Amino acid sequence: MANQFIDTARILVRAGAGGGGAVSFHREKYVAAGGPDGGDGGRGGNIVLTVDPHMSTLMDFRYKRKYVAETGMNGSGKRCTGKDGADLVIKVPRGTVVRDAETKEIICDMSDDKPFVLARGGKGGWGNQHFATPTRQVPRFAKAGLPGQERDVILELKLLADVGLVGFPNVGKSTLLSVVTRAQPKIANYHFTTLFPNLGVVPMEEGRSFVLADIPGIIEGAAEGAGLGHDFLRHIDRCRLLIHVVDVSGSEGRDPVEDFDTICTELEQWSPELASRKMLVAANKVDVMEDPELLERLRAHVEAKGCRLFEMSAATHQGTKELMYAAADELAHLPPILVFEPTFVERPPEVDTSAPLEITRDDDGTWLVDGPWLRQLMANVNFSDYESRNWFDKRLREAGVFDQMEAKGVTDGDLVCLYNLEFEYQK
Ligand code: GDP
Ligand code: MG
Repeated sequence: MANQFIDTARILVRAGAGGGGAVSFHREKYVAAGGPDGGDGGRGGNIVLTVDPHMSTLMDFRYKRKYVAETGMNGSGKRCTGKDGADLVIKVPRGTVVRDAETKEIICDMSDDKPFVLARGGKGGWGNQHFATPTRQVPRFAKAGLPGQERDVILELKLLADVGLVGFPNVGKSTLLSVVTRAQPKIANYHFTTLFPNLGVVPMEEGRSFVLADIPGIIEGAAEGAGLGHDFLRHIDRCRLLIHVVDVSGSEGRDPVEDFDTICTELEQWSPELASRKMLVAANKVDVMEDPELLERLRAHVEAKGCRLFEMSAATHQGTKELMYAAADELAHLPPILVFEPTFVERPPEVDTSAPLEITRDDDGTWLVDGPWLRQLMANVNFSDYESRNWFDKRLREAGVFDQMEAKGVTDGDLVCLYNLEFEYQK
């Protein structure tokens, strides 16, 4: 399967957890009873996406589906903060659109060279240096690190090309690409030849060069049940202009008008917006045309729809230059290549709050409340935001945390430390 073109993949990424804070006390010869000096844990590594211009498929993700970044190191004495976990950089081909696997919302479109942080590492836990208060001189506790973000995402490759070639198999799309660019797509006189999208740069004078994409014909894979077909249309989703190649030679007993309409219907079914995009029509194989009447009927048909028709022979290069100049002229006043805007809305994760929390009391009388789900929840709450704090409070109430605390004997005015959040208890 090494030569298979893979253009979608689903992967799971998990950023590193933060390192734990340290419990330590300053010790020096001849110095009695030093203060707490336990350092904080390091931050967990992020999961970062970057574009690798040499990658052209998502095949790597077929074999490796889970990506986990490094955990932060634990803190240590003398206020030493643990080392941050290294970021895990995942390379993707240019044009990879990343979606949330569940909601299908777009998280990012990897079309430019800016790296994107897909999952944030957890903060390191505080060392005991932070927990000294006038009444608590000897804090014998520190905090574990917070978990890293986890995401289940779908990667989808949508090539970046200005112009997309569409048309039935065997009409000469790959031949055209090979004639007007330096790309060397596979060309053969049978259907089902093109299995990989091919890109080539059409050289023009300064500032007018453009990228042309040849995608597998719409029908070829679908007819064979190979699961291709329509799926490949995603690669022209971003194209600014379409060139619809039609075989007018009549050599296979085909009717160009019918072929033209069939493809237009397929485009329409995939995306009405795509079908409405600007289109030039290339009437190909005029070098072996048997019945000029076919060409004229096609011309009348497409012109009635507002498209310009260009007679062409990819084989003898007749008319190919004119077509490319016309394409460049159109591009000069068409909008730039489509870049997808993120639609993803960050939501706190669903956590199972049914597990009981650990509630203990330290030497100084502070209540310590902790538990895995509490940390997970807190890792995702922005405590400087009023709404978020309210949401957090509501979740705790619903989970019966305050009831559990009162059952243990927590009363008004007691000092409570919820993971690393300290406050005075008030009913
Ligand atoms: P695609 O499936 O649309 O990519 O078509 P190809 O480019 O692979 O071409 C299919 C066949 O048509 C090949 O045998 C080509 O040599 C031939 N062909 C392409 N363009 C022309 C043309 O303008 N004239 C003639 N006579 N043959 C052509
Ligand atoms: Mg082809």
